[in-house]
Amino acid sequence: RLMLGIETSCDETAASVVALDVDGRPEILSNVVLSQIEEHAAFGGVVPEIAARAHVEALDGIIEAALQESGKDLAEMEGIAATAGPGLIGGLIVGLMTGKALASVSGKPLYPVNHLEGHALAARLVDDVAFPYLVLLVSGGHTQIILVRGVGDYERWASTIDDALGEAFDKTAKLLGLPYPGGPNVEKAALAGDASRFDFPRPLKGEARPDFSFSGLKTAVRQAATAIAPLTEKDIADICASFQVAVGETLQDRVARSLTRFRGMFPGQQTPTLVVAGGVAANRAIRAALELVCERNGFRFLAPPMKLCTDNAAMIAWAGLERLRAGIEPDEAMHFAPRSRWPLDESAAPLIGAGK
Ligand code: ATP
Ligand code: MG
Ligand code: FE
Repeated sequence: RLMLGIETSCDETAASVVALDVDGRPEILSNVVLSQIEEHAAFGGVVPEIAARAHVEALDGIIEAALQESGKDLAEMEGIAATAGPGLIGGLIVGLMTGKALASVSGKPLYPVNHLEGHALAARLVDDVAFPYLVLLVSGGHTQIILVRGVGDYERWASTIDDALGEAFDKTAKLLGLPYPGGPNVEKAALAGDASRFDFPRPLKGEARPDFSFSGLKTAVRQAATAIAPLTEKDIADICASFQVAVGETLQDRVARSLTRFRGMFPGQQTPTLVVAGGVAANRAIRAALELVCERNGFRFLAPPMKLCTDNAAMIAWAGLERLRAGIEPDEAMHFAPRSRWPLDESAAPLIGAGK
């Protein structure tokens, strides 16, 4: 069983072919991702108009490349899965309309996929992690903890009340004069820094609610930077190192709430698992902090390969295959309109029809 996946919700134009064999084992036959980082770098962030135009120009060729690399053609697909939201509306329109066109010429069903569902299920492409498990999604646009009970069955337990974590990294980089995208550059600068020099806040630490907040941290960085400006390279390194330690400790405190809640809810679960997803998962210091909080709470920490953590189409094709396998038919899919906002908790709603 083969599924073509299409992803255009943000600044990556991506297509992928994923296969599911008779034993239920997935195989990624191709996973092509074109990043628009260079197009947006001069502006210090993603520009929606530029992103939409770039998707229009690139998508056909990327799909062509994904099919070619997989050695399969469109007629062999069992379905076409395209990201239908949430994200930038221009890109979503390009991807979903292309998916509809391909579905209609090939006569195959279209699966409109929630991008967050893609992130939530991606781990199962490379690991036999069973339901239920927890996902920590930390990217440029999202910071949330999701309980994954099954395909199409998600509960959002925590989210950021202000900035996403990747956004906090990007803004911190910007105010320190580091180039876009900020995350990797903050990480690099932090390597040479003294993490004990600045005592940045750990927002919401100790609070009973499980949510996240990062805007206070960013403000504290700005104040520290303004107070000692002009900044030397050493100052920048020290700020980055101190920032990362504050982020790591904040995450540990916040994530621990949900780990405890999960334990209480599923006391019999053999290997409770926390999966990390999103671009920030590339950060080694963050990963180490998460590994530690999992270890302390008796959880397995699962970090899929980075190609599956950041935006990609293999996770979208996979979400389609998971739905196909679960017998969740894409009801009225050809009439599905892209949604710039689409909380994952609602993701099952438009596809209910055939049931499981
Ligand atoms: P969405 O939120 O819709 O999934 P996105 O494009 O923002 O979209 P990703 O592509 O998953 O998400 O991740 C990009 C984010 O990850 C950026 O904010 C970037 O700064 C951050 N990031 C990437 N590498 C690192 C790193 N090494 N350390 C910290 N942050 C990083
Ligand atoms: Mg991206
Ligand atoms: Fe994403």
